Parts: sequence; structure tokens; C-alpha cells
Amino acid sequence: MAEPVLKAENVTKYFDIGGGLFKKADKVHAVENVSFSLYDGETLGIVGESGSGKSTLARVILGLVPITSGKVFYNGNDITGIKGPNAKYLRQELQMVFQDPYASLNPRLKIGNAIMEPMLVNKVVQTKEDAKKRTLELLELVGLHAQAADRFPHEFSGGQRQRVGIARALAMNPKILICDESVSALDVSVQAQILNLFNKLKKQLKLTYMFIGHDLSVVKYISDRILVMYLGEVIEMAETEELFSHTLHPYTKALISAIPLPTTEKQDDRILLEGDIPSTVNPPSGCRFCMRCFMAKEKCRHEHPKLEEIRPGHFVSCHYWNELEGGAEID
Ligand code: ADP
Ligand code: MG
Repeated sequence: MAEPVLKAENVTKYFDIGGGLFKKADKVHAVENVSFSLYDGETLGIVGESGSGKSTLARVILGLVPITSGKVFYNGNDITGIKGPNAKYLRQELQMVFQDPYASLNPRLKIGNAIMEPMLVNKVVQTKEDAKKRTLELLELVGLHAQAADRFPHEFSGGQRQRVGIARALAMNPKILICDESVSALDVSVQAQILNLFNKLKKQLKLTYMFIGHDLSVVKYISDRILVMYLGEVIEMAETEELFSHTLHPYTKALISAIPLPTTEKQDDRILLEGDIPSTVNPPSGCRFCMRCFMAKEKCRHEHPKLEEIRPGHFVSCHYWNELEGGAEID
């Protein structure tokens, strides 16, 4: 297989929160031992409930927060904790698209200027004329009219603002887009339009995506491969088809069962997870999911399951994956 464009090796991020209500040594285990490869032209989905460490993983990869341990490689080069001019270059190649582009848009700056400005600051274009020309190209690329350049952020709908956010990211000529809950704030019909735009851009510009979301049905729609996170850890990872047809982890099973089916029939096979996602402050030594797991046994409370490759390219971390009903039989 080809060399991955992006590779995470045992990436771990703890936040110190000692003091106040917490003990001095208390740490949030936000991301623990996460490893994956991202290949050229693919879309890797990262799914998990709120607080499972998805955004922290993205920020650690980009060097926006310091890493606790582990390594990150871009095109085979070690970029762990990268600083200085190389970091600037890297952050052009890897662009983020956030949930709410409104938060990063200056309300008094016209959209055209908001797209031009970073291009000029980062010297992606040399002259103001080139920046203007490129801005109009980008607006067309993301499905906005040229007149949008002269409007202010508040004149746009949520979906249009997300198109502006995407245009700003594309202005840096990135190789990889890291989309963090990029469609989560939008209505379902608008979500579909933006997802289709992402797919169109991927083909047209030969982009590679890391697509982060809490909604498995959305992540499924766009991803070639999916990595499922729970309390900072990867609990399952497989190609999208494989993950749905041969689900190996009870948590993934529960997430899948929660996706509404396009039918009017009552769904009675839903698995309801009890309780909220537990705290990541000093997590227990056994399986992190065991408190909410409908299959948990004594072993799960004491022994941490390893992430193992059970079928080709399909990894799971569960002691009892082979007991999951409808799960995989090893061929
Ligand atoms: P997600 O994006 O999956 O919702 P996050 O990466 O935002 O999850 O958060 C993972 C965990 O790390 C959460 O428990 C969150 O409260 C914690 N966390 C995130 N950022 C910080 C920070 N700067 N300081 C302390 N804890 C943090
Ligand atoms: Mg997040």
C-alpha cells in the first residue's frame, strides 16, 4: 500500500486540571494512544459522542495544542510538535473547517475581503488583483454568486456561511481538509448540500479529508473508512461498508441502532445506552465503555482490551467481540 499522507502513532493528550475541585495530579485523558493512517484521496471519518476527544485529536495533529506523547507524520516527515516556518507551511497544507464559520468571520468585514485577507497575509497570491480574481473563482467553486463578495456575514444563511468557511480554507490550496463538525449546526437538507459539495471538491481538487462528527449517519454518508472513538480511545476502525455489515464493538452497534431508518415502522431493536459518557479524568484501568455496555463481564472491569485486527483492515478493542449478535464470523 502507498505511504500514508498523514499518520498518527500512539497520539496521547492529557490536560492538567489539578487544583480547585480536583486533586493536583488529576488529568483529563482526552486522547489516549490513537493510531491511524490517512491515505491520499480518502475520507476518514472520526465519530464519537461529544467529549470523546475528536477535536483534541485534530488540534494535536495540527500542533495547535502540545502533544503529551506519540508521533505525527505528514508525507513521512515527523511533524510532532512542529514550530516556526514549517508549522506555517503545514497549516496551509492542512486546513480546518469548523462547525460555525460565523465565529471566525469578522462581522464588519465583507466576505470577499475575508477570503482575500489570509491569501495575502500568507502570500498564497502576490498581488491584490490576483487575490480578487482567485476569490471570485473560489466563490464559484463553493456554489456562491460573485455578488457574495460584497456582502457581510450576517446577510448569509448557515449553509451559505459554511460555503464561505470552505472557500476560506480552500484559499490556502490545502492538501488535507480536517472538517470538525462542519455540518452539525445545519438543517438536514442543507447538511446534504454541503456534504455533496465536499464530495464534489474532493474529486475536483484531489483532496483528502478527515471528517469529524458525532452523528454516525452523516459520517457514514461521506467516509470511505471510519474510526470510532470512545472516551479518548479508538474502539473500532474499518472501511465504512465493513463497519456496518460486520460490526464488532457493542458501542458501534449501539450507535448504528440509533440511526433512524427511512421507514414508518417502529424500530424496536434500538440499543439504548444507559447514562452519560463518563468522565475522562483519571479513567478506570479496565474497558472504558464497560459501565454502559450491555455485554460487560467481570474481566471488562479489570482488563483493558487491546485494539486488534480481527478481519483485514478491521480493528476492534473488545474482549467479547465474538459474542456480539449479528457480529462477524471469522471466514
Ligand atoms: P469532542 O470534540 O469529541 O467533543 P474534545 O476533544 O473537545 O471532544 O474533548 C475531549 C475531552 O477533553 C473532554 O473531556 C473535554 O472536556 C476535555 N478538554 C478539551 N479541551 C480541554 C482543555 N483545554 N482543558 C481541559 N480539558 C479539555
Ligand atoms: Mg469537538
